Amino acid sequence: MSAGVRYVLANWKMHKGQAEAAAWTREVAAALRPRPDREAVVLPSFTSLPVVAPLCGDALVLGAQDVYPQPSGAVTGGIGTAQLTDLGVRYVLCGHSERRLLMGEDDALVAKKVQAVLEGGMVPVVCVGENAEEREHGRADAVVRRQVSGAVEGVQPDRLASIIWAYEPVWAIGSGKPALPEQATEAASILRHALRSRLGAGLDPATVAVLYGGSVSPDNVAAFARAPGVDGALVGGASLDSAAFLRLVEAVEA
Ligand code: PEP
Repeated sequence: MSAGVRYVLANWKMHKGQAEAAAWTREVAAALRPRPDREAVVLPSFTSLPVVAPLCGDALVLGAQDVYPQPSGAVTGGIGTAQLTDLGVRYVLCGHSERRLLMGEDDALVAKKVQAVLEGGMVPVVCVGENAEEREHGRADAVVRRQVSGAVEGVQPDRLASIIWAYEPVWAIGSGKPALPEQATEAASILRHALRSRLGAGLDPATVAVLYGGSVSPDNVAAFARAPGVDGALVGGASLDSAAFLRLVEAVEA
């Protein structure tokens, strides 16, 4: 990642058919201008990647919501890293809490995805965060530390700065109850310390990008983007509307 860059990622999850995906992308691409200090990324469903890819223009960057951790091969229903790079994908979510919960993804699988994405020349965006019960029992920090250490298992130290992290407390996702910006700052600090103690002093924590995700909206995004140690936002529901996404981007730039 480049220091000082603000990120806004639109995670569409399992929403939009191809026509809707194309319309959103046309509208956003027409309105956005490239900026060296801001990265706007769209993460469509796999089925919409081929229609979104040629419409992104020069200011919107393509990402994917998941990947199978190998370039290609005999994996029925899998999407490999080579298939993503073939479409121009630059960012790949790894370990989103919905996949951890609904598909049983564990830290070991997340680590394999992180390595495969890096080997494929793309940027992993690793999602970590505690659920409500873990927070209530005072285990939020330990969960984030465990997920961070697990995700970088086997990753070459010189590749660590290429990973982007998203602190997404599970209780804040889709709930309309975002964390406080101070909680995002605290989690980002814990995350950076966990990386440093796992991989040594060679890593400059300032080079590690940490985003916040969980009920981010055009109205609250600026508070997160300005929170110390937070480099932007990963946005689900509020990114589905093209005008709302443009407001998110604008607020992060301001
Ligand atoms: C997400 O799922 O990554 C997310 C942050 O969702 P929402 O913005 O809808 O809470």
